[in-house]
Amino acid sequence: MGDRVYLDWNATAPLKAEARAAMLAACELAGNPSSIHAEGRAARAVVEAAREAVAGFVGAVPADVVFTSGGTEANAMALTPHMEWPAGRGCTRLLVSAIEHPSVLAGGQFPDLQVEQIPVSPHGIVDLVALGSRLDDLATAGERPLVSVMLANNETGVVQPVAAVAEMVHRGGGLLHVDAVQAAGRMPIDIKTLRADLVTLSGHKIGAPKGVGALIRRSGDVQIAPLLRGGGQERRLRAGTENVAAIAGFGAAVATAAGARDRAHMAELRAILEEGLAAASPDLVIFGSNAERLCNTSLFALPGLSAETALIAFDLDGIAVSSGSACSSGKVAPSHVLAAMGVGKELALGAIRVSLGPNTTTNDIETMLKSWRSAVARLNKVSKKGRGGLAA
Ligand code: PLP
Repeated sequence: MGDRVYLDWNATAPLKAEARAAMLAACELAGNPSSIHAEGRAARAVVEAAREAVAGFVGAVPADVVFTSGGTEANAMALTPHMEWPAGRGCTRLLVSAIEHPSVLAGGQFPDLQVEQIPVSPHGIVDLVALGSRLDDLATAGERPLVSVMLANNETGVVQPVAAVAEMVHRGGGLLHVDAVQAAGRMPIDIKTLRADLVTLSGHKIGAPKGVGALIRRSGDVQIAPLLRGGGQERRLRAGTENVAAIAGFGAAVATAAGARDRAHMAELRAILEEGLAAASPDLVIFGSNAERLCNTSLFALPGLSAETALIAFDLDGIAVSSGSACSSGKVAPSHVLAAMGVGKELALGAIRVSLGPNTTTNDIETMLKSWRSAVARLNKVSKKGRGGLAA
């Protein structure tokens, strides 16, 4: 990466040294974790140590952790009508907030007609009144809902009132799935405090390799149906030989995930960044700034400045940032998250996301601010010329 400044941690975090070391060691193991010989048992031990680390990371027990190929697969697995728990058998309806990641909005294994979106406020927070009223209707109709609300949004960083959602969902006889992919390492996660029935994590947002994640249950009472059937791996919940090296990397990454001090560091740098951006461009709009946000995320726009143009300029200056979510970059459509918050198309097309990590430095932020000031100066020059042209 040389001297480049990487400020796109919500797209993916650089691989941690600890994760790399754990992966390399795991690659040396010849055995299949399902084999009973010594080689197999050595691979199994690596998988189980990682399971313990991942469970501990969210306050769950190891038996309730199912390793997957990432957040997308964990979400698809969670969102199934074929769920059993003491209060019910199967879910007849899926309610998702309008700002979920596309892998949740896709509805998992639910037929499209059973999937509904719950609106969010202009601050990007799920509308609890709308959710409550829909849950009441469903309870009256004798339906069992599965609700999916993310812990923090990948674009704005806005933290959702998950514990309050859990209370409402459980009162209505339903289950709650929480996509905690972006919250990991950026705020504490405890599955019991959140009262989420299912939680999704993805390794690559916290310094593990790409292509590994987990679906975690709060209790074994909730029986999820497997997405992949075949071998009996992952307690029959996810067939296929485990990706031992990636799982080892995931375990190492959660074991060394950012703590309170790292989070305070990111929050401090984000404050410097946002003050600097606003000082250079008083018309700046920071999305979700009146809500509780992850310490590392800032999504902003300056009227008249297209995100595409700005991103190219930043890249030439050696800075990697993103417009909206990485999963949707490449498309010039405005973000569905900002649309749900009621942001107009033109402003939304200017949205730039800067996301920091524990290794981000004050110098990185200064470099970003310098590049921003140049972009703003260029914009002002062009608009002055434009105004001159009109007047003449
Ligand atoms: N959920 C959220 C909130 C995300 O931000 C992402 C990735 O950007 C995912 C799920 C998908 O995770 P993965 O890339 O591991 O499939």
